[in-house]
Amino acid sequence: MGVLQVSTAITLKRLNPDLSIAIIKREEKALVPCAIPYLFHSINSIDKDVISDTPLVKLSIDIYIDEVVSADLENKVVRTSKGLELGFKTSSCYRFYT
Ligand SMILES: Cc1cc2nc3c(=O)[nH]c(=O)nc-3n(C[C@H](O)[C@H](O)[C@H](O)COP(=O)(O)OP(=O)(O)OC[C@H]3O[C@@H](n4cnc5c(N)ncnc54)[C@H](O)[C@@H]3O)c2cc1C
Repeated sequence: MGVLQVSTAITLKRLNPDLSIAIIKREEKALVPCAIPYLFHSINSIDKDVISDTPLVKLSIDIYIDEVVSADLENKVVRTSKGLELGFKTSSCYRFYT
């Protein structure tokens, strides 16, 4: 789970609370890459650089610890290593506002 994924999910959910959003992340704990250099000087703890799930959970964004292994763009389905199949939309941005 990257920082852009998180900010995109939060922004979309705020624009349209009815949207169903899922984030699939490989790792239980993901780091904010931008803060990695600061770990050596000012932060001193990897735990302080972990991307929090809390804002996502508060907005009812689903989080799956898994790995996407394929994306079927024609049928709009992603498949994961744990056998999950999730449909997705590729609609234009304006749809998010309606
Ligand atoms: C050392 C460093 C310092 C940086 N400093 C800055 C800065 O000061 N300012 C700035 O604007 N940017 C900075 N950046 C860049 C910034 O971190 C990235 O632009 C940003 O993290 C991109 O976010 P993202 O969500 O697109 O992807 P990422 O942060 O790359 O996250 C992608 C996530 O997706 C997961 N993933 C990948 N493939 C799969 C899969 N098949 N299934 C499931 N999960 C998968 C990965 O495990 C990862 O957690 C820095 C980057 C680094 C490395």
